[in-house]
Amino acid sequence: MEKKKITIAGAGLVGSLLAAYFGKKGHQVEVYERRPDMRTTLIDGGRSINLALSNRGWKALDGVGISEEVRKMAIPMYRRVMHATDGALSFQPYGKENEAIYSVSRGGLNALLMREAEKHENVQIFFNQRCEDVNTSAPSATFFSEETEKIKEIESDLVFGTDGAFSAIRTALIKNDRYNYSQHFIEHGYKELSIPANADGSHKMEREALHIWPRGNFMLIALPNPDGTFTCTLFLAHEGEYSFENIPNLASARKFFETHFSDALNLMPHFDKEWVENPVSSLVIIRCFPWSKDGKVAILGDASHAIVPFYGQGMNSGFEDCTVMAEMMAKHGDDWESLLKDFEQQRKPDADAIADLAMRNFVEMRDLTGNPEFLLRKKIEARFAARHPDKWMPLYSMVTFSHIRYSEALKEGQRQDKIMEEVMMIDGLADKWDSEEIEQKMISLLASK
Ligand SMILES: Cc1cc2nc3c(=O)[nH]c(=O)nc-3n(C[C@H](O)[C@H](O)[C@H](O)COP(=O)(O)OP(=O)(O)OC[C@H]3O[C@@H](n4cnc5c(N)ncnc54)[C@H](O)[C@@H]3O)c2cc1C
Repeated sequence: MEKKKITIAGAGLVGSLLAAYFGKKGHQVEVYERRPDMRTTLIDGGRSINLALSNRGWKALDGVGISEEVRKMAIPMYRRVMHATDGALSFQPYGKENEAIYSVSRGGLNALLMREAEKHENVQIFFNQRCEDVNTSAPSATFFSEETEKIKEIESDLVFGTDGAFSAIRTALIKNDRYNYSQHFIEHGYKELSIPANADGSHKMEREALHIWPRGNFMLIALPNPDGTFTCTLFLAHEGEYSFENIPNLASARKFFETHFSDALNLMPHFDKEWVENPVSSLVIIRCFPWSKDGKVAILGDASHAIVPFYGQGMNSGFEDCTVMAEMMAKHGDDWESLLKDFEQQRKPDADAIADLAMRNFVEMRDLTGNPEFLLRKKIEARFAARHPDKWMPLYSMVTFSHIRYSEALKEGQRQDKIMEEVMMIDGLADKWDSEEIEQKMISLLASK
């Protein structure tokens, strides 16, 4: 295999993992990151922000041999705990027994991935370097140093953009003829808050769970951190009746929480400070194609497919990009033009599918998890799947616990919807949901749909 000189813009989650993959293959890799080194500088004001890591992510981490290390800093979340307005709790397992999604620290994981990449002496990461442009024919990329305020042009054999949803590399690709691109900001934004630990370091709510306060058009969620705290995120429309715009000051924010999330507010002693200091951030969906140019420049992760966070799959799908990139390297060897073409052809339908699935899961999380009919449907599906694993895997499990392509999971999920719509119309279902009759009905519907 020919060793290439590779430039990567962005040492976020995907860029650092990709550098580790290329480093392992012996390529000469230089990564340029806009921010300072998070291992020595506080990022995001030192707030702990976490993410849900699931099977696709684990597989990609396995590929560079660091999943065991990541597991040490991850908390399994076996179920959703739903908090009703009156504080009553209900529960929904995520998968089969022992199946969990894992809460990990974004900063902790990113730092670990950078260290893993830099274990290879052929990988170097440079910080405070903002990518400004890319010349797709050379190829070369230009970087502005925040320290020296100088611009330098780096030539290499290949340039990869893993510089996130507002990628500079993608901005350069967009200038090409017949380039398709869309950027859609959804009507909801988010604000992060926190629940501190008890004095003894334990968690104030069930630790191994993802907590949700579903409230129709908006919701609050909380994921556990190893230090006993929870990171909470309020998802709320920017404008309209229930919106950030309609919460103009701290007094109205407290009133809003007292009305809708009083049990959570009781656990938030730093609410006032955090509400004022933490920003309201936007959520964007990016779709574009192609993802590469002339076998020399390519984009991965959020740079090519940013999605909303409601399926917990943004990072996982970006990590899966790295798994597929490794498969493509094995398949195509030194033919990078065919490799990158094959990569984008295979990944694009899957990226589109998870973008759609993630929006759909927002409705499920904020609205349906509080709905008894929805919970009944989930119980029927889980029972049927346990008895007929060869015939049924719930959509959530296909996306989260399997490696089935997202595009296939979406298609199968649509077929399951049609079946379950009919099942849910059956009279007296609540009393016989676990009966032989319902099981047989599903078997016959499966044969016909
Ligand atoms: C609120 C929220 C919750 C989420 N929760 C989950 C979850 O539970 N599970 C999950 O799988 N995903 C989740 N995601 C999605 C996940 O955060 C992203 O999909 C993931 O971070 C994408 O990784 P990336 O490396 O492609 O981009 P990023 O993480 O955005 O990294 C891009 C990197 O490039 C750098 N950069 C940017 N511009 C330049 C430039 N011009 N030059 C050089 N460097 C540059 C940035 O500083 C950054 O380090 C969530 C997202 C949000 C917003």
